Amino acid sequence: MSQKKPEKLIDENDIRSDGRKLNEMRQVKIEVGILGNADGSAYIEMGKNRILAAVYGPREIHPRHQALPDRAALRCRYHMAPFSVQERKSPAPSRREHELSKVIRESLEPSIFTEYYPRTAIDLFIEVLQADGGTRCAGITVASLALADAGIPMRDLVSACAAGKVDGRLVLDLNDVEDKGGEADMPLAYMPTMNAVTLLQMDGMLTGEEFEQVLNMALEGCKQINQLQKEALRAKYKVVKEAEAEKEEEGEKEAAE
Ligand code: ADP
Repeated sequence: MSQKKPEKLIDENDIRSDGRKLNEMRQVKIEVGILGNADGSAYIEMGKNRILAAVYGPREIHPRHQALPDRAALRCRYHMAPFSVQERKSPAPSRREHELSKVIRESLEPSIFTEYYPRTAIDLFIEVLQADGGTRCAGITVASLALADAGIPMRDLVSACAAGKVDGRLVLDLNDVEDKGGEADMPLAYMPTMNAVTLLQMDGMLTGEEFEQVLNMALEGCKQINQLQKEALRAKYKVVKEAEAEKEEEGEKEAAE
């Protein structure tokens, strides 16, 4: 949400405008498998960001000319709800949303065994319900979980987090005011098990040395996000397992009667 830039974004005690330390990530809450009608879904809260991801597929592709002979076509739509920012946003897709749909697709595609499903589509919808900076990263993180929840074979989870420079200091996970009022923002997406970066963008200016430091900070952020993703997946499958065990128990009881 666009807010007026405070005069100082970091105070003399190195505390940021939202009370965080320089290398502290916003509070993250993740839930997997929350939609009944999609093949896979997940929801993330990262600070004030609230984002939902839904996946369909692999399924028959329409229009057919989009079919790829050797792999599934990953199609991605990143969309911001009209109420996701302070000023009402037009629901029609903007240039920014088109661009983000493309970069998010490209950051997730290397993680999927698309070659297992030639001539099909995997459709991914990312709905930003509330935005506060860093929605592409939170969108990638939650979309990767929705893909896993859909049971799509994957090489790794993709975990994303940004780092950058604000008031001359290097910081992790910029919020909207920091993004707008800071000197640099570098979103990064990373597959920890494969040790591969799938997205690296940068807005603003950094020295060579700062670039390396910011990159390492963002990588550490991605690793933290990865832990939270795994916990969210485990939590979902714990519930599924318990429900299955209950069903089995009931079945056994009925058989015994
Ligand atoms: P990201 O969300 O990945 O950081 P940007 O750097 O393009 O992507 O956007 C930064 C932030 O700017 C968004 O997270 C959102 O809070 C805000 N923003 C984006 N588009 C709009 C818009 N149309 N109106 C108001 N704020 C917006």
